[in-house]
Amino acid sequence: MAALSNSSEDACLVINAGSSSLKFSVFQGGSASEIEPVVTGQISGIGTAPHFQAKDAQRRVLADGVLDEVGPADRAGLLGFLLNWIRHELKGATLVAAGHRVVHGGTRFSAPVRVTATVLDQLEELIPLAPLHEPHNIAAMRALAQVYPSLPQVACFDTAFHQTQPWQSQTFAIPRELTAEGIRRYGFHGLSYEYIAHRLPQVAPELANAHVVVCHLGSGASLCAMRAGHSVDTTMGFTALDGVPMGTRPGAIDPGVLIYLMREKGYGADELEKLLYHKSGMLGVSGLSNDMRDLENSDLPAAAEAVELFCHNVAKQVAALAGSMGGLDAVVFTAGVGENSTLVRARVAEKLSWLGVAIDPAANRAKATRISAQESRVPVFIIPTDEERMIARHTLGVIAATQLSRAA
Ligand code: AMP
Repeated sequence: MAALSNSSEDACLVINAGSSSLKFSVFQGGSASEIEPVVTGQISGIGTAPHFQAKDAQRRVLADGVLDEVGPADRAGLLGFLLNWIRHELKGATLVAAGHRVVHGGTRFSAPVRVTATVLDQLEELIPLAPLHEPHNIAAMRALAQVYPSLPQVACFDTAFHQTQPWQSQTFAIPRELTAEGIRRYGFHGLSYEYIAHRLPQVAPELANAHVVVCHLGSGASLCAMRAGHSVDTTMGFTALDGVPMGTRPGAIDPGVLIYLMREKGYGADELEKLLYHKSGMLGVSGLSNDMRDLENSDLPAAAEAVELFCHNVAKQVAALAGSMGGLDAVVFTAGVGENSTLVRARVAEKLSWLGVAIDPAANRAKATRISAQESRVPVFIIPTDEERMIARHTLGVIAATQLSRAA
C-alpha cells in the first residue's frame, strides 16, 4: 500500500460504532504498512450512562471513568470529548484521518471510500439491509463531520472483501427481479478475512495460492472459503443472520419456521428481529449465556449441548465450503472463540478427521500459530485477527491516493 507522505507523528483514528458503544483505536507510525496502535478504548453506555475507557499499547489503563460532561445520547458531544482527549494524550500528534467500520456496502461500495455528503446519503439507503448496525455507523460519521468538518473520513466495508465471489455464491434461487433489487448474498466479517488473507502467506508462504477455510468465530460468527487470498464463498448472506449459530443468533434456519411463527404464533417483524438477533444462538439453546466461556465452565447439560451444536455446524460448514471451492489445503481459526477456545478448535477438528484434519493437543492448548499434528493432511492455524489495523491501512491508503491524484 502507498506510503503516506506525513511524519510519524501523524495519527489515524479508527472507529467501530455500535448501538450503545463506540470502540476506537489510534494508529501511528508513518506508512500504512508500518503503523501500530498506540491507544485503544471505547465509550460504552451511549444513550444511558456513557463510560470512557482507554489503554495504551502495553494495555495499561490511561482513562477509566463516567463521562457526564455531555448528554448521554449526544454523539457529537461524545466524539468531541474523544478528539480533545486524543489531542491532549498524544501531544504533538496530528490526526490526519478517521476510518470507520461500516457493516454493509450493498452493491455500490466494493472498496473503501472517502466519506462525503453524497456517500452518507447513499449509505442511508442501505439501512434496511443492516438495520441494527448501519444507522450507528452513519451516526458516528455525521457526528464526527459536525465536530471536526476538515478531518477526512473513510468508510471501510465488511461486505467489500466478498465482491470477488462467483455469481453462484452470491445468488439466492429466487426470481431474478428480486435479485436485481439487491436481494442476494453479500457476506460479512470482510475486514477480518482480508487481514487473514494478508497474514496467512507471511505465516505459511507455501499457502499463498491455497484453498483455505477461515473460521471467524466470535460473538458473531461466519466462515469464508478463500482461494489465493480471495473470497469465493461465505456462510453469511443478505444479512449477518445466516450461517453458523452465534452468541444470540441462530444461523441458518428453515425460512418455513418464520412463516409458521408469523401465522400460528402472531409474530411480527419486530418480534422476529428480536428472536433472531438477540434471543437465539448459544443464549437460546443454553438458556444460560451467549458467552462461550460461561458455557465451557458450566455443568448444565444444555450448555454442553449449545457448544456441541456450535461445533457441529462449524465443522459442517468447513466441509461445505471445501466442496464449494473444490479443495481444502488449510483451516484457520480466528476471532474471540476461534483464537481462545481450545475446546471448540479440538471438537471442530475431531469432526473433520475424515478430511485428514488432526490437531496436536499440546499446540492447541498452547495456542500456537500452527496447531495441526505432523501427520495432519490439512494444516490448521490460529491467526489473531486485526480488523482495526485493516481499517487504518485502508484509510491511510485512500487519503494517500487522494493526495497523489490532487498532486498529479
Ligand atoms: P469477538 O466477537 O471476536 O470479540 O469474540 C467475543 C467472544 O469470544 C466472547 O463472547 C466469548 O464467547 C469468546 N471468548 C473470548 N475469550 C474466550 C475464551 N478464553 N474461551 C472461550 N471463548 C472465549
